[in-house]
Amino acid sequence: MAAIILDGNKIASEIRAEVASEVKTMAEAGMRPGLAVVLVGHNPASEIYVRGKVKSCEEIGIYSEKLTPPDSISTQDLLRLVQQLNKRDEIDGILVQLPLPSQVDSKKILMAVDPAKDVDGFHPVNVGFLSTQRPGLVPCTPAGILEILKRSNIPVAGQEAVVVGRSDIVGKPVAMLLINGNATVTVCHSKTRDLPGVCRRADILVAAIGRAGMITRDFVKPGATVIDVGMNKVTERAEFDRLFAGNAKREESFRAKGSTLVGDVHPEVSEIAGAITPVPGGVGPLTIAMLMSNTVKAARMRRGARAPALAAEHA
Ligand code: NAP
Repeated sequence: MAAIILDGNKIASEIRAEVASEVKTMAEAGMRPGLAVVLVGHNPASEIYVRGKVKSCEEIGIYSEKLTPPDSISTQDLLRLVQQLNKRDEIDGILVQLPLPSQVDSKKILMAVDPAKDVDGFHPVNVGFLSTQRPGLVPCTPAGILEILKRSNIPVAGQEAVVVGRSDIVGKPVAMLLINGNATVTVCHSKTRDLPGVCRRADILVAAIGRAGMITRDFVKPGATVIDVGMNKVTERAEFDRLFAGNAKREESFRAKGSTLVGDVHPEVSEIAGAITPVPGGVGPLTIAMLMSNTVKAARMRRGARAPALAAEHA
């Protein structure tokens, strides 16, 4: 039987509506949440992502500010910019769009962001809060994955979860969230032996690898929930045919654009999985929705003393 498609666009729009209503309440209380996005230089992909983030703020009612220092900026100057944002009360969230130019020490910059404003959840203080189950800011994509599971009524507690990928931004934090949700979690990577065999144990399989269609049906236990985090652009005809042979709709858009977006999971997996996130339209939309949610959370946590009711709700 074909898998249930977990519609990320629908779930993201539910979250955005909830966040917008919260923003309205906060703004009426004189505490409009604010997000600063730092976009260094002119990386085309980063420009698209940042445009999406700023647009989403506008739709939801969050104040946003885009800072665009030049490609040539030094680590010191960027540090100064981040420190200024740290001090500004109306800025609740600071997002430094990655990647940064090679002369900039990215780790130093990410470490300089006030953990209370770290809406990406990458600061070691927030990583520590997540692993010790204290309130903090959780990376957006992993938080979005847990929302997909929760809002689709897919149980996590007691389930076997396998995460393929151990990056700091996806693999590790999603594994930690699944552990915190009482799943039994295995984290796999490029040195894992018998990857298909390990993956077949999963009731919940999360693929965060960055390899187009690598997870084929041999990796999946029938009926499992499959979360496909991958976003890979396929431009080669042979690769396209391996993934989408016979798919007329994809064929049409591939011909028109010369490329197509595919996850880390082969489309054939939807024939045996119980539920699956599509690419596009699965995990992707949740990332921005959770950024909005994190900005509101950061505002409530940081300005909590001035908003006792909101702070109590958060606790
Ligand atoms: P990453 O930092 O490159 O990490 C990839 C992970 O996959 C690594 O842990 C690597 O293992 C593992 N891996 C690579 N090849 C493997 C193989 N053949 N077998 C087993 N494991 C393998 O990537 P990332 O930043 O986590 O992103 C992963 C994917 O998610 C990418 O496609 C990215 O574009 C996408 N993504 C999507 C969103 C979204 O909003 N939807 C957000 C973030 C990322 P080692 O550690 O051993 O090298």
